[in-house]
Amino acid sequence: MELSKDELIRYSRHLLLSEMGVEGQKKLKSASVLVVGLGGLGSPVAMYLAAAGIGKLGLVDFDTVDMTNLQRQTIHGTSDVGRSKNQSAFEKLTEINPEIKIERYDEALTSKNAMQIIEKYDIVADGTDNFETRYLVNDACVLLGKPNVYGSVYRFEGQASVFGAANGPCYRCLYPNPPEPGAVPSCEEAGVLGVLPGTIGLIQATEVIKLILGNGSPLIGRLLLYNALDMRFTEIKLKANPDCPVCGNHRTIKELIDYEVFCGISKGGESKHENVKDEISVAEFSRLLKLDDDFFLLDVREPFEYDICNIPKAVLVPAGRVKNNLSKIPTNKKIVVVCHHGGRSRKIVDYLTNEGFQNVFNLEGGMDRYAQEIDADMERY
Ligand code: ZN
Repeated sequence: MELSKDELIRYSRHLLLSEMGVEGQKKLKSASVLVVGLGGLGSPVAMYLAAAGIGKLGLVDFDTVDMTNLQRQTIHGTSDVGRSKNQSAFEKLTEINPEIKIERYDEALTSKNAMQIIEKYDIVADGTDNFETRYLVNDACVLLGKPNVYGSVYRFEGQASVFGAANGPCYRCLYPNPPEPGAVPSCEEAGVLGVLPGTIGLIQATEVIKLILGNGSPLIGRLLLYNALDMRFTEIKLKANPDCPVCGNHRTIKELIDYEVFCGISKGGESKHENVKDEISVAEFSRLLKLDDDFFLLDVREPFEYDICNIPKAVLVPAGRVKNNLSKIPTNKKIVVVCHHGGRSRKIVDYLTNEGFQNVFNLEGGMDRYAQEIDADMERY
């Protein structure tokens, strides 16, 4: 694999590094990296790996760009809202570096396609934002013997490591079991500092390049923790767990499993609570509103969310303040609790029920599903 004159110019700052040089740059050109998820982490990972001259990048995403992505998913721009993330990313990456090859997978990574897709690549950079896909990527990488450069972000904190390397631990060694569904709020629920995935994604991109070069000390067996508020990095040593079901001595996971079941999520993508009797569907809820039924509607979102869209009848008490405002909630009426997607309100329903309130219901799918299925004029975010 030779470098053209254009490439010698484009990568000249790399070629000056004795640790990289022409040989190192040729290694990058020969390498292939799969970026799973073109969101907050995938944006910097893909942009910098493209710029660095990775010969082949694979992009996996099935989502479309929405306005709330732009605060951190910098591979996409305002004019991309409503377009496919993969298409938007493909165009941006081609503009950054037309010398590289890009393959698109405009689909969700699943137990059915993960092995076939991942086996075509040398390294995987995991930019997923959910536990099902994270365990899926981990297991597929372990089964195929591919390094899995991991990153994740939450509010002001992030972590990164390299899993699935020879003799190194995997994600399951660190977290054998997923959290209960809803126990760890998503970025959508908990928020995230926009620059945070930039920092973590660039750590992932750096590790990918080091793995390809075979230079430096990679994050194998090391979990790097970053707190943006304190501006502090800490590190935890990780060991491969001999009892790990996928990489240990007595392996029980020898092929990909059903990750939605493993993570406690049913087929429809709904939580375990789907059939619990204190959930109310948006259709039933809309019927109650039309009947002008005398019920108490408690909106536990934040004030700025209420300003984006609301149901006039609702009384706003953000989830964090419910405890100190119990006197605002009537004890003699049916209560319906709403939030954006039904996660925060679910916890408040459980809390109120524990506090002795009766007749408390959670609006399944929250305001978002209500806007989607019932009120098309309502602003979504
Ligand atoms: Zn393991």
